[in-house]
Amino acid sequence: MTFNGVHGEPQLILALSKGRIFEDTLPLLSAAGIEVLENPETSRKLILSTNDPGVRVLIVRASDVPTYVQHGAADFGVAGKDVLLEHGGEGLYQPIDLRIAQCRMSVAVNAGFDYDSAVRQGARLRVATKFVNTAREHFASKGVHVDLIKLYGSMELAPLVGLSDAIVDVVSTGGTLRANNLVEVEKIMDISSRLVVNQAALKLKRERLQPILEAFERASQRQG
Ligand code: AMP
Repeated sequence: MTFNGVHGEPQLILALSKGRIFEDTLPLLSAAGIEVLENPETSRKLILSTNDPGVRVLIVRASDVPTYVQHGAADFGVAGKDVLLEHGGEGLYQPIDLRIAQCRMSVAVNAGFDYDSAVRQGARLRVATKFVNTAREHFASKGVHVDLIKLYGSMELAPLVGLSDAIVDVVSTGGTLRANNLVEVEKIMDISSRLVVNQAALKLKRERLQPILEAFERASQRQG
């Protein structure tokens, strides 16, 4: 990106998604002396200013954060491990686990469905998910045959209407599964959000980036 800050300093662009990642990143930005001046929940702007004229924030879909950073449209960003595994991480430096937006990726089924016996009997399962790469790897490692059905949202609906036998989704409190009469039958992995940095920006803008990365690292260690 060609934005230049005051005094001709390179502009730093941070890619974030709305919601939990944005909210959990604010204290980390604060620790680096950066305050975002607009609220993405009430503003329709997609490029937000901060109190530092040299730093701006792009609001993008969670699954698009790695793409903006990979291509250098953003210098750095925050993305969940779930999203990074699907993206593949190409062109991204991932220096810090920020320990924010913690949740888990799990398999869930209709309350009446006996998942363990279906797996034991070698049944072929229909699995609906947004996370097809992670799901494929998980079931392959267990030797379970699956037909993956790619969805882009509301995975919880799929077993309810007979589209699939199971879903692979991220679970936080479990409230969404319970509300839809689904049960979590297997945890695939713990998830948290990571800082990702464009590899070229890391070299060319190191002086501007380094203090921010260090402040993020210190603040995230305090998250426990
Ligand atoms: P919960 O009802 O608290 O288990 O939250 C589950 C719903 O929120 C699911 O639809 C998830 O897609 C979404 N969700 C919860 N935590 C996260 C997270 N850290 N990152 C992305 N999506 C999440």
